[in-house]
Amino acid sequence: MKISEFGGEAAIINLIREKFGTAEQGDLTLGIGDDAALIRSGDKFVVVTTDLLIENTHFRMDLIDPYQLGWKSIAVNLSDIAAMGGTPTYSFVSIGLPDMEVEIIESIFDGMRDVSDTFGSSLAGGDTVASEAGIVINVTQLGSVEADRVACRDGAKPGDAILVTNTIGDSRAGLELLLKFGLEQARRASESCVVHHLQPEPRIAEARAAVSTGKVHAMMDLSDGLASDLQKLCCASGVGARVMAGAVPVSKDTHIAAARLDLDAVRLAVEGGEDYELLLTCSTKSAVAVARAISTTGSSARVIGEIVEGDGVVLAMQNGSEESIGGSWEHF
Ligand SMILES: [Mg+2]
Repeated sequence: MKISEFGGEAAIINLIREKFGTAEQGDLTLGIGDDAALIRSGDKFVVVTTDLLIENTHFRMDLIDPYQLGWKSIAVNLSDIAAMGGTPTYSFVSIGLPDMEVEIIESIFDGMRDVSDTFGSSLAGGDTVASEAGIVINVTQLGSVEADRVACRDGAKPGDAILVTNTIGDSRAGLELLLKFGLEQARRASESCVVHHLQPEPRIAEARAAVSTGKVHAMMDLSDGLASDLQKLCCASGVGARVMAGAVPVSKDTHIAAARLDLDAVRLAVEGGEDYELLLTCSTKSAVAVARAISTTGSSARVIGEIVEGDGVVLAMQNGSEESIGGSWEHF
């Protein structure tokens, strides 16, 4: 049976999970299923996440600068450390390379170094191999989080406010521009949206500020899009969610790009993908305090809806109609 008939990525993850039995044992406090694993170390956790990027599946060299490819490959992992409330520590980079220009490889590692320096991580090791199937990059990122600061996906409660940081949809708008116009023309159309897509900023400080309030119930980063990721958070917490379409933060740049692409800006934001903003929940009475804590980092956070009993994610449109969302990027 093919993966696509078997149930896609989620079914493969379940198969792996079943083969290994219950993951949590000894100091492994949280295994498969969240943004990162947690391994207890004294009164802290070591946070561990890994991500694999394959040329022509996850990136195209004609649509991304080598520097930005390096930046992004580490940044998406740092974002998962942020999602747990952690601070990044060390990364391990394994890379498969065809026989290619050394200058390009240098640029990839310049991007990796700069994002690591910016967010307080260091390269601690890895592997370099030859590849006949284009560039392959695997990053394993470690971080650290205090046991009383850790944020998981399973803590959302009915009545909670749902918050997101900054704006969402910019990255998806950037991707659509890239696919339609190519790198140079897409940049001219919206440098901001393209940069959001190619060089995302992990929200480490924002996540730390949020968990430092002690009021966050559940948190994750937005990698597959609000609809899909909120569904995952709801599944983990055994709850449903209601999102107000009118409250979803959409940038002016995304509105302009959407008009240019003849697409709906709110739909780009809701279905999105690769925003690398934070999605979190807390009690409604704590929402102002959490948003204010996040605002001290220079980012913003706003309430976009509420957690409800039951399951499923509903988008309440401004005209009063409601739509069930929760579709996802299917990798196979
Ligand atoms: Mg994640």
